[in-house]
Amino acid sequence: MPLSSPLYSQRWLIITLIALLGCGFMATSLLSYYASRTSIRDNIVNTELPLTSDTVYSEIQKDLVRPILISSMMSRDTFMRDWVLGGERDPEQMTRYLNEVMTHYGAYTAFFVSNSTLTYYHAKGVLKKISPDTPLDAWYFRVRDMATPYEINVDPDQANQNNLTFFINYKVYDYQDNFIGVAGVGLKVDTVIKLLDRYQQRYQRSVYFVDTQGRIVLTGAEGGPQGARAGQSLLELENLHDLRAKLPTPHSGNYEYNAQDQRHFLNVRFIPELNWYLFVDKHEGSALGDIRRSLYLNLLICLVITLIVLALLNGVIRRFQRKIETQATLDSLTGLPNRRGFDLLALQAMHEAQREPKPLTALLLDLDHFKRLNDTHGHLAGDQVLSGFARHLESCLRQSDIVCRWGGEEFIVLLKDTDSATALKIAEKIRLLIEQQRYAYEGKNLHLTVSIGVTTLQADDTLHSLLSRADHAMYRAKQSGRNRTCVEMPHSSYE
Ligand code: GH3
Ligand code: MG
Ligand code: MG
Repeated sequence: MPLSSPLYSQRWLIITLIALLGCGFMATSLLSYYASRTSIRDNIVNTELPLTSDTVYSEIQKDLVRPILISSMMSRDTFMRDWVLGGERDPEQMTRYLNEVMTHYGAYTAFFVSNSTLTYYHAKGVLKKISPDTPLDAWYFRVRDMATPYEINVDPDQANQNNLTFFINYKVYDYQDNFIGVAGVGLKVDTVIKLLDRYQQRYQRSVYFVDTQGRIVLTGAEGGPQGARAGQSLLELENLHDLRAKLPTPHSGNYEYNAQDQRHFLNVRFIPELNWYLFVDKHEGSALGDIRRSLYLNLLICLVITLIVLALLNGVIRRFQRKIETQATLDSLTGLPNRRGFDLLALQAMHEAQREPKPLTALLLDLDHFKRLNDTHGHLAGDQVLSGFARHLESCLRQSDIVCRWGGEEFIVLLKDTDSATALKIAEKIRLLIEQQRYAYEGKNLHLTVSIGVTTLQADDTLHSLLSRADHAMYRAKQSGRNRTCVEMPHSSYE
């Protein structure tokens, strides 16, 4: 297809429009998507996650401050120290003391473990003797050897159906600063777990605690990252290599990492009271799902609009093109096909006639002394007569016949399926009709005659040879006095 052809430029126009509309729509949709995404991300990282972290922390602080104070008080209690130094003689006294602490301060449990006898006392009696070989008792020996005065630990409470409990393990010293045991109170972890669950379910955030070695220590009911349970180390978890690369050991701060094809936002905060890190994690999917859906909807609407615009444009262009094509093949004065239009129709008609075969006869009509008519009455009068003549000519023909204004005051007719004898009759009918016709112009009745050349298509004819024979016949009609019809056969001719 040549670069300058109308079809090429039409395609080019449509492609350019698709590109412009597509790029424009795409750019605005993507821009607004990325702007919303950035603002949602900023909001998550700078507001949502720190706020959750703050709330969880303050709840924990609120819950822990009192037990820490009580445990601290117990560790300094003179009764406790005197009773231990006195040889732990009456366990009943200790039990009563612990029961008093528990009920008075509303703790879940209260306990004392003596270093000299390794006896575990609690509010309801003597629980057991602890042993360094029992894993459940390992906490005691850890506390005994640690440098800080107390720790907070989450363990099942052996004195209360192994319910998960926050223990405040406070070291107790005698008056000479010798270590004599560990005392403290416990409070139920349930309230904290409920808090974690609430965040998990209502705000699609994962909230859990990790110790300084990266071991998960406390999670909500649904667990930590990827359902991990307390006791598991973050380092062991599959799919967390990206997080591990960014955070090999816990540190406070904001992090972004990828896990299971999702972008995660993570806020880590050190909780000094627990010596744990609070992890608040939210994945991008839940937060960005809505705006991604609206992006897809946006793009779909843009696609539909682009298609509608293209369909409309295509329709307009096609209609316009058809109009131009029709205009290019029609004569503007008479409304008949012009030479260009005739060529297309004539070649097709000749082809059909030669193939079938059927007779096809051509008439070449030339108005007589038309120049004189123009000179006498003016060019406008000539125009009016020309279009009037065209109408009269058409009135003598069938719908299937081909008629055209060949140029100036010359017309050509192709009569389909018509031999020369019939064509002669039709030509005469035309000639007589025109002879009798009067054309009114500015109060005058103009009169006109026509000379017609007739010839029938031969097997070896081209359009050119056919028309030159018709022209020859018409020339003879002129020569023999005008207002007459002459027939030209390929080798013979008669009037
Ligand atoms: P002849 O009988 O030999 O055909 O004489 P003629 O005057 O008809 O022939 P000629 O070829 O000498 O003149 C044709 C005239 O037709 C000359 C031209 O001005 C006129 N003519 C051609 N086209 C138009 C047209 O569109 N409008 C008008 N008004 N006149 C036209
Ligand atoms: Mg002429
Ligand atoms: Mg003429």
